[in-house]
Amino acid sequence: MTKDLYEILGVGESSSPDELRKAYRDLAKKNHPDANPDDPAAEERFKRISDAYDILGNPEKREQYDLMRKGGHDPFSGGGGEGFGDLSDILRSMFGGGGGSPFGAGRHASRGTSQVEIEIPFVTAAKGGTVQRVLRLPVVCRDCKGAGGSGRETCTSCGGAGRISSGQGFFTTMHPCANCGGRGYTLKKKCSTCGGTGEVRSSEKVSLRIPPGASDGTTLRASIGGNPVLVRLRVKTDRFFTRQGRDILCNVTVTAAQAVLGTTLMVRTLGGKVKLKIKPGTQPGTVLRMRGRGVVHNGVKGDQLVTVVVKLPVELNKEQRSLWTEIKKTGS
Ligand SMILES: [Zn+2]
Ligand SMILES: [Zn+2]
Repeated sequence: MTKDLYEILGVGESSSPDELRKAYRDLAKKNHPDANPDDPAAEERFKRISDAYDILGNPEKREQYDLMRKGGHDPFSGGGGEGFGDLSDILRSMFGGGGGSPFGAGRHASRGTSQVEIEIPFVTAAKGGTVQRVLRLPVVCRDCKGAGGSGRETCTSCGGAGRISSGQGFFTTMHPCANCGGRGYTLKKKCSTCGGTGEVRSSEKVSLRIPPGASDGTTLRASIGGNPVLVRLRVKTDRFFTRQGRDILCNVTVTAAQAVLGTTLMVRTLGGKVKLKIKPGTQPGTVLRMRGRGVVHNGVKGDQLVTVVVKLPVELNKEQRSLWTEIKKTGS
């Protein structure tokens, strides 16, 4: 039986929220236990479908699930029967939480995979390099070992399920129980260290290797204090450079005389300043290609594309005015 949530709903991984909703409704209707009184497996199928939609129908959970799916943290690889027992185990491992319900706690992942976002400079992303950052992560509270306190009692509101259904008919929706915060139990005495959440924030300094050609949204895997962490990169904009795949784009400004007579400029590149020749008669908007000065990705070098901007004088002094007048007389 597949444990891939997209396969369970019979949709592609790029399906829209509407497509997901429709697939879920169709399947839920077909497999609802009430509609299949003679098929005992229907209830299990119905539960799997609902569980899958609980994740994929929630944009945040879906993003986290997609990351794990793509990031090599294959939640489905159980090997030969070892590893995850069923869907609930997978979801619990992803979204944390104990108690009766895999979704219940919905807390971040002190017991699953945490995700953090860091900002890196444009040039570091383009060239690759190493950055050091202090990351703050939720980790299991040592004082209560994640229990949140002592005197655990089954929640009287949800009966330990961690969630409460509302609505009628086929499409009841489930909400985390407010009384127990989705844990399924309440505590007589809360842990004073973590305030009953079972986790505390821990800061760790980490060194991350940024691969050349990293871009916004690139996700790296790291391990912090033994906990797997997904680090999502946000690339800062640069005043001078922008990027288009492997190519680096920039503008240079020259005067009218430099464009007409030609000149040599020193232009910033990823590897420092480099000479660039502007030929006589260069037109505004001309794009000059500096070969091999772009991003190196998978062994292929991009270029730096330089757009020439020509700045015309706004105010002229007496001498300049007479010179431009002379030029005008020549008809060019
Ligand atoms: Zn409850
Ligand atoms: Zn604690």
